[in-house]
Amino acid sequence: MDLKFTPQEHAFQQEVRQFLAAKLPPHIVEATANNSSVFVEKEIALEWQAILVEQGWAVPQWPVEHGGVQWTPAQKYIFSKECYLAGAPMLIPLGLLMLAPVIMAFGSEEQKTEFLPKILSGEHYWCQGYSEPGAGSDLASLKLKAEPDGDDYIVNGSKIWTTHAHLADHIFCLVRTDSSGKPQHGISFLLIDMNTPGVSVAPILTMAGDHEVNQVFFDNVRVPKKNRIGQENQGWNYAKYLLEFERGGGFSAPRIKHELQRLYSLVARARHSIADFDASGEIARRIARLEIDLKALEITELRILSAVSGGGNPGPESSILKLNSTRLEQQINELSVDVLGYEGLPMNPIEGGSPNRPDFISSVVPRYLNNRAASIFGGSQEVQRNIIAKMVLGL
Ligand SMILES: Cc1cc2nc3c(=O)[nH]c(=O)nc-3n(C[C@H](O)[C@H](O)[C@H](O)COP(=O)(O)OP(=O)(O)OC[C@H]3O[C@@H](n4cnc5c(N)ncnc54)[C@H](O)[C@@H]3O)c2cc1C
Repeated sequence: MDLKFTPQEHAFQQEVRQFLAAKLPPHIVEATANNSSVFVEKEIALEWQAILVEQGWAVPQWPVEHGGVQWTPAQKYIFSKECYLAGAPMLIPLGLLMLAPVIMAFGSEEQKTEFLPKILSGEHYWCQGYSEPGAGSDLASLKLKAEPDGDDYIVNGSKIWTTHAHLADHIFCLVRTDSSGKPQHGISFLLIDMNTPGVSVAPILTMAGDHEVNQVFFDNVRVPKKNRIGQENQGWNYAKYLLEFERGGGFSAPRIKHELQRLYSLVARARHSIADFDASGEIARRIARLEIDLKALEITELRILSAVSGGGNPGPESSILKLNSTRLEQQINELSVDVLGYEGLPMNPIEGGSPNRPDFISSVVPRYLNNRAASIFGGSQEVQRNIIAKMVLGL
C-alpha cells in the first residue's frame, strides 16, 4: 500500500482546507477545544453536521445512493485528518456511523426511507440501548423483554450506561424476544421512539462531573413490530455488525494526532515557564514512544479501512483499533496531566469544578478523568483482547 499522497490527493487536501477555513465557525472550534466529554454538546455537533450536509460531506462512509461521497480511503483519511487539525468536532456517531450501516445492511426499504434521511439531517437523535445492569461484557445475557401483542411488542425492563439518552429522541435496543435457547438466540433489534409512554430516563453522573450516561426504564412500552430490524430472534448478528462500526468504523489516528498537538503546546508552555523542565528527558522519551505508536495505529487503520473501502464491514480487526486507540489516547491524557503538574489541581471537577479559563488547558484534567471510561465503553479492553485472540488470531 502506497502511503504517499498523489498530486490529486494533495489538491483534495487543499480543497478541504479551503472549505474548513471558510465554513468552520470559530465558536464550534472553541467549544470543541474546551470539551472534556466523549461527544461535544448536541447543539454544536448538529450545527457542524448541518454545515457538512450542505456541503455534501457529512457521511463519506455512506454509499452514494444514501447521501455518501465517492471518495477513496485516502480522501476519507485526508478529510478526517484536516477536520481534526482545524479543530472541528467529531460528529456524534450513534445514528450516523453505528445505526445507519445496520439499517442499510439489514433494514427494510421502508425503514431505509423512513430513518436514513432523518439520521442524516439530524432530525432524529439516537442513543444505543445495548448494556443492562446484568449484561455488559456478557451482552448476550440481556433481559429487556419484548412480548408480542398483535402488530406491536410490549417492552419491559431497563438499559444502563446509555450515552445521551437524556438528549435523544430515539433509541436502538437489543430486546429479548425468546428465552428458550442459547442466550445469543432470541435477541431482536428494535427501534424505539423515546417519546412513547412508559419510557423514562434517570441520569448517572461520572467522576469527571459530566452528565453523559443514563439508565433508561421501559414500563409497558408499546413498539410497532415494523420497527424491528430484520428477523425476530436474529438481532445478535445485527448487534455484532454494529459493534464493528462502533469499535473501528472510522479513523481515530487523526483525532489522536490532534490530541498530541495539544500535548505539544502544554510541553512548550511548561518549557517556557519552568527552567529545568524535563531535565531527565523522560517526558521527551514518552512523547517519542507515543509518536511511534501513533504511526503504527495510523498505518493499521489505513490498511484495514482500505481493505473495506468497497462498502464492507471492518470485521473483528476493529477490536485491534479500539484497543490501541484507547490505550494511546489515555497515555496522552496521562502525560498531559503530568506535564500540567500542580497547575492541574484546581481543575479537578471532584475538588470543586474547573475554573472557567478561556483556553483548552482547563479541560485537561476533566478530559483525563472522562477518558478513563474509554477502556470500558464499546466493550472493555479485556473483551477486545478476547475477540482478537479468538476471531483474529484463531487461538
Ligand atoms: C461512559 C460510558 C458510556 C457508555 N455508553 C453506552 C451506551 O451508550 N450504550 C450501551 O449500551 N452501553 C454503554 N456503555 C456500557 C459499556 O458498553 C459497558 O460498561 C461495557 O460493555 C462493560 O460492561 P459492564 O459495565 O457491565 O462491566 P462487566 O461486564 O461487569 O465487566 C467488569 C470487568 O470485568 C471484565 N470482564 C468481564 N468479562 C470478562 C471476560 N470474559 N474476560 C476478561 N475480563 C472480563 C471487564 O473487562 C471489566 O473490567 C457505556 C459505558 C461507559 C462507561
